[in-house]
Amino acid sequence: MSSTRARQARRAWHVCGGAAAAAMACAVIAAGALGPSALVKPSLAPALLLAGITVLTCAAIARRMRFQPPSARSQRVSFWLSLAPAMADIEVAFALIGASYAVIAVSGALDSPLYPLLYGVIAFSVTFQSRPGAWACLGATLILELAFFLRQPFGMDSVVPMLLHLGFIAGAASAHALFLRGMVARHYWRGKRRLRREIEAQRRSARDYRLISAALGAESRPQRSRAEEEHMLAAGGIQTINASVYYTLSLLQRLLPARTCVLLWLDPRGEALAIKEVITAAPDGEDISIEAVTGASAIPLQGVLGAVVHDRAPLLIPRTKPGQVPYCGSRPEGSFAGVPVMAGAHLRGIVCAHRDDPFGDRELALMTGATEQILRCVQSEQLLLAVERAKYEHERFYHASAMLCQALTVEEVMETAFDAARQIVDYDVAAISIYDPERRRHQVKSVRIAPGGDGLVAHDELADLKFRDDTGLVSMVVKNKHYLPSGGEMRDVTTPVYGRKVKLKGAESLLVLPLLSGETAVGTFMLAARRRHRFGKDVREMLGVIASQVAVSIQNGLMYEQMKTMATTDGLTGLTNHRTFQERFAELLDRAERHGRQAAMLLCDVDHFKKVNDTYGHPVGDQVLRQVARVVRSAVRKVDIPARYGGEEFAVVLEETGLDGAMRLAERIRSDVGAMVIESDKGSFQVTMSIGIATFPDDGSNRATLIEHADQALYNAKESGRNRCVSYRRHLAEKPVRQAS
Ligand code: GH3
Ligand code: MG
Ligand code: MG
Repeated sequence: MSSTRARQARRAWHVCGGAAAAAMACAVIAAGALGPSALVKPSLAPALLLAGITVLTCAAIARRMRFQPPSARSQRVSFWLSLAPAMADIEVAFALIGASYAVIAVSGALDSPLYPLLYGVIAFSVTFQSRPGAWACLGATLILELAFFLRQPFGMDSVVPMLLHLGFIAGAASAHALFLRGMVARHYWRGKRRLRREIEAQRRSARDYRLISAALGAESRPQRSRAEEEHMLAAGGIQTINASVYYTLSLLQRLLPARTCVLLWLDPRGEALAIKEVITAAPDGEDISIEAVTGASAIPLQGVLGAVVHDRAPLLIPRTKPGQVPYCGSRPEGSFAGVPVMAGAHLRGIVCAHRDDPFGDRELALMTGATEQILRCVQSEQLLLAVERAKYEHERFYHASAMLCQALTVEEVMETAFDAARQIVDYDVAAISIYDPERRRHQVKSVRIAPGGDGLVAHDELADLKFRDDTGLVSMVVKNKHYLPSGGEMRDVTTPVYGRKVKLKGAESLLVLPLLSGETAVGTFMLAARRRHRFGKDVREMLGVIASQVAVSIQNGLMYEQMKTMATTDGLTGLTNHRTFQERFAELLDRAERHGRQAAMLLCDVDHFKKVNDTYGHPVGDQVLRQVARVVRSAVRKVDIPARYGGEEFAVVLEETGLDGAMRLAERIRSDVGAMVIESDKGSFQVTMSIGIATFPDDGSNRATLIEHADQALYNAKESGRNRCVSYRRHLAEKPVRQAS
């Protein structure tokens, strides 16, 4: 018991000690402990008092700045703690006023020129402190002012300054309070007005939007995101419904006539009701409780409302008892009529009416008519909304299809596919992968990361990603030729989409569509989004059509590329064919000529190839040609042009290469071909190769001459025993000798 009292005393001291000390200081100053003489004739007591007041004031300000109000619970429990916030302000107020009057006292009391300091403190207190602090400040000021006045000899010399001070004190207090209130009120009203204007503008634009969007084509409408478009359509619909409901209920209220008419709407789960509209003539709307109108609490299916919901039939109560109508406010007595709003067998809501006289059959018929009117309005609005949405989706869809038709190359098709998909759904990441059935590998060919998609996956992680045909979603989609996951939602986050290395972090919606061209899946179109439920049924269907369009375009593109390869390469060896070789040779020579660089040409011919054919058969001959081609290809650089010149002859053009370099390379090819071992049914064997070399510009300045001279050198190599490399220069050097012999 005693410990409780001690704790109370401690708390009281802690909360009120500072304020009491500051009040004491004020009292001491009021008693006249300080005067102008304190400065003229310094003595110990006034000096100590001044120092004490300074310390007290600084301590009060510091304590206030560090002050943390006790929790609401502790304030409820303890009287002293509940005083703490007010006392913190009171302490500062007393300390500041005490300090101000101490300064005034030493600088001339009522005649002090430092009075403005006091007005400043009062203005501060009234503006920034809580009400107890402000009142404490004003109270202390008046008491001290009175004390100063009483200590002066009574006369005009003291009354006039005091009245002046009181006037200024009142002015400082009220001016600041009024100024502050005025500012707050102005901001409040301005904000309120702006809000009202904005709501009105929103309503108008939503209403107009439905009319305008119906009249205009898709092209002429402003570009809006799908979410914005849906919002505008829904908002427009709700506006129209609200207006009709309001009109119908107003009419009903006047026709019945009723004190109050209410439309209640059942929530989607059918567990509670909410007030949609109220038309009332009751003073202060006393028929309905505030909580029910604001929607702060759901209206339970009890009392008369429970009966209407249960029976699905109108209900008339001549005199209701308190609590019988769940939403009623302070005036529950009177007559009640409730009529269910039925859509077929489904209850949608209830129309209720209240008045003093009992309702009869005529009123019931009127109310039933009103419910039908409200229902018709809601239904036609829903229908309109559905039609509008379908129209909008189709417009977007056709727009997307048209975009795809204009794309030509495979790259263009893929980029357009991303744009087209965006017309249909807001995704965050999209990627197209192609499947190579021969090598059983997938490769991501194109990636699009939308602005919000950063963090789901990095562009470089996906771009050009190659992965095996395994158990990932992409592989399954290609195999089953059906989109995955089934609901367009990422259910099992552990299932890899591509290879195991790549993860889509934080994707809630996912769709991997097959790129179906006829019966074959050439790849996949993947879309991912952070938000849930992005790829609903309609979206999936439209994207499916886009995907097949993409598939056909991609396959066309791939076929075109294949044909291009076929036209430029030799089927047997995979080397550049004769025609393309001539074109590329000409280009290379042009370059060499422009830049004043060298080039070289090798003409290679397999020795006694006819014999190979004759001995081992044509297919083995083909095998030899393939192996020789491999040797030639691996011997040259990327910039060089290895080609099948014709039959068993191969040509190689070397960029920026002189005779020495060309000779070295020719020797390497010759020795590598000579080292080749060819297996056949009739045993293994080897072949040799002769090579003629001509260089640009020394051995010829144009293509025809270079070929001609390389051929002559080759002929020389054959003549002089085969399995050797001969340059045109050497051929020329030997020519007179041979001609002579
Ligand atoms: P030489 O050492 O003088 O070059 O003798 P050779 O037998 O190689 O001479 P020739 O140029 O007369 O013979 C070329 C043979 O290459 C003739 C032809 O049957 C054969 N040939 C040409 N193209 C192909 C081909 O695509 N496949 C096969 N297996 N043989 C081919
Ligand atoms: Mg030949
Ligand atoms: Mg030959």
